Amino acid sequence: MAEGLTTNGLDTTMQKLVIASNNPGKLREFQAMLTPLGIEVLTQSQLGIEEAEEPHCTFVENALAKARHVSRESGLPALADDSGICVEALGGAPGVQSARYAGDNQKSDTLNNKKLLQEMQGITDRRAHYYCVLVLVQHADDPQPLIAEGEWHGEIAQQIRGEGGFGYDPLFWLPQLNKTSAELSRDEKAQVSHRALALQRLLQRLDTMRKPF
Ligand code: IMP
Repeated sequence: MAEGLTTNGLDTTMQKLVIASNNPGKLREFQAMLTPLGIEVLTQSQLGIEEAEEPHCTFVENALAKARHVSRESGLPALADDSGICVEALGGAPGVQSARYAGDNQKSDTLNNKKLLQEMQGITDRRAHYYCVLVLVQHADDPQPLIAEGEWHGEIAQQIRGEGGFGYDPLFWLPQLNKTSAELSRDEKAQVSHRALALQRLLQRLDTMRKPF
């Protein structure tokens, strides 16, 4: 993933980037992917920044709102991730509501997985994909946010399996690997996930533009 990055100086100059998320699972994955590139990853909670509203019906609008909010509050470049799981037989649900699928006021992975399993009862078409859109702004009013997307296709398992990852990973079945994504190591997930793919594309664009951020 880091190939080519040396051309823009990311390997020699420590750059600061705030991740616009308080989701510990996402933060662990970003830290693991960005720190080796010489990027100092700060989190919005470290800086005491409240979560942004996510009122929109598209991932990209929510990601843009989060990135602008955190960049405005921190005065630093910000990277936002809006992501979710989309189940074909449920018309794309939980989709943008993935974090709050089991209820408006809570973000419980356990309850979300339980609800998804209930909704899938009796459904034979188990196809699903994770979707991630990343938005990078250099400042709050950046007129040219960098945007990159990634998808990861799999199925909804019949029951939860595995201890790794976060969110819907114990239910995200990968037939080719005979595992759920919660049974992958962090390194394995970072080779193939929707988030890893989106980040790889974002970094390639940055490199092409010769921008540090
Ligand atoms: P967001 O913070 O509004 O973008 O919500 C993202 C939600 O989508 C998370 O809380 C998870 O429920 C789900 N999600 C996104 N990416 C992943 C992943 O890599 N594994 C498992 N669940 C994910």
